[in-house]
Amino acid sequence: MSPQKKKYGVMGGTFNPIHLGHLVVAEEIRHKLNLDKVIFVPTGNPPHKDNKELTDAKDRYLMTLLATVTNPNFKVSSIEVEREGISYTIDTIKAFRSKYKDTEFYFITGADALLELHTWKNVSELLNLCKFVTATRPGFELSKIETEIKNLEKRYNRNIYNISVSALQISSTDIRQRIKDERSVKYLLPDPVKYYIDKNCLYR
Ligand code: ATP
Ligand code: MG
Repeated sequence: MSPQKKKYGVMGGTFNPIHLGHLVVAEEIRHKLNLDKVIFVPTGNPPHKDNKELTDAKDRYLMTLLATVTNPNFKVSSIEVEREGISYTIDTIKAFRSKYKDTEFYFITGADALLELHTWKNVSELLNLCKFVTATRPGFELSKIETEIKNLEKRYNRNIYNISVSALQISSTDIRQRIKDERSVKYLLPDPVKYYIDKNCLYR
């Protein structure tokens, strides 16, 4: 009998900055699907793209490390931060599959990201290489998500998990705006992330 495969969640995002919404999604899905670990993968900075809102990849990577350091089941990968050129999820999953043998991967997104999935590179191959997990997110209607999941399942002949998680109406966009407006962001993100933002004068 072959040994049981490990199960790793992969959570991609810009994490600009990482907040409690991301952490609760990762922890609840880890628990519900019995995952051994969740690997957070901050995106790199796309070359030649003028995006003033997108903080340097190094800062976003370090904030993700600070936010996850106390959870032994969370890991952060710098694979996309270090990669030259545009990073695609399919390439990251392929790299993880060759690095971690005998492991099943569960790619975790929020409901808003699922609605964009049809625009991703090589969706069909991606759904063959990992299982896809959608977490509920406040502001994104469940019925719309369920319809989209049905469409995708039919088109790609693959199951997509739809997992209900505690609703936290937090977004990085809102946090950036609050900092610009000098409003409080306390209790929306881990304190060390807040200290990092203050120390490096981010989002002002
Ligand atoms: P931004 O406002 O800059 O887009 P964000 O809060 O959406 O930031 P991202 O880094 O874009 O954060 O998201 C990474 C992943 O986490 C996405 O799949 C997104 O859907 C999910 N996510 C983010 N916040 C939440 C939340 N509060 N509840 C559920 N899922 C979330
Ligand atoms: Mg987003």
